[in-house]
Amino acid sequence: MTRHNSGAVRCRSVRKVWAEGTGKETVALEGIDLDVAPGEFVVMLGPSGCGKSTMLSLIAGLEQATGGSIEADGEPVVEPGPDRCMIFQQSSLYPWLSVAENVGFGLKLRGRPRAERRRVAQELLRTMGLGDVLDKHPDELSGGMRQRAAIARALAMEPKVLLMDEPFAALDVQTRAKLQDFIGQVWRDSGASVLFVTHSIDEAVSLADRIVVFTARPGRIKAVIPVELDRPRDPRSPEYHQLHDRLIDLLADEVDRAFAQQEQAAS
Ligand code: ADP
Repeated sequence: MTRHNSGAVRCRSVRKVWAEGTGKETVALEGIDLDVAPGEFVVMLGPSGCGKSTMLSLIAGLEQATGGSIEADGEPVVEPGPDRCMIFQQSSLYPWLSVAENVGFGLKLRGRPRAERRRVAQELLRTMGLGDVLDKHPDELSGGMRQRAAIARALAMEPKVLLMDEPFAALDVQTRAKLQDFIGQVWRDSGASVLFVTHSIDEAVSLADRIVVFTARPGRIKAVIPVELDRPRDPRSPEYHQLHDRLIDLLADEVDRAFAQQEQAAS
């Protein structure tokens, strides 16, 4: 078999049909070709229901594609692996463990000694602005802090690919902006590739090396836009506005189509 070691993730002609062969069949994705380079930050942008989360689950190995191929680091993806960590909108920290123990939990499963787990947790939590809450429990933290701890827990496993499914969508606007800053920093330090799903144009322009715009369902790639603005990105700059407007134009028809699909499904 030919192996391609050039990229962190390689998707070819990916198709996903949910509930195939039943009356409730849904073609979620069609003909997806996507490469993510090592260390690259790719944002998937598209209307609700266009298959973005489905795409992440396939790359995570939580679900199997109906057709096409997905490789991570040159190996076909057949199941979840520690090289690919998924972060969801609502983090799922263990409530009975301290924040530091949560962050070190995966390392414990790998048999790493307690002192090492503590050191790694300390370092990561400090980078995420959580150096003061190592020994607190998740229910003592705000939503934004819990989400940062969940990201630290994923990074402790030193994944090659971080798969983030609208990780900041449940947070208020200010917290969301702060977390975007944090993720920008830790991503650069970690060297991991990131595949980040959002339907926020601002989030995409703030974070991405490349933005992949999806069509309404069945999700296809409508455009791939490299973002060549210096970081940190200035939302007041004319270049930022230009790109933002271009993305609004690209998405407008797709959002209308997705809305019509939802209305039809509900009637
Ligand atoms: P997005 O993340 O872009 O909002 P999703 O990937 O969640 O879109 O969903 C794409 C389509 O696939 C939607 O029509 C959704 O209802 C359907 N879908 C998603 N997950 C499942 C599932 N587990 N079973 C059946 N249909 C699903």
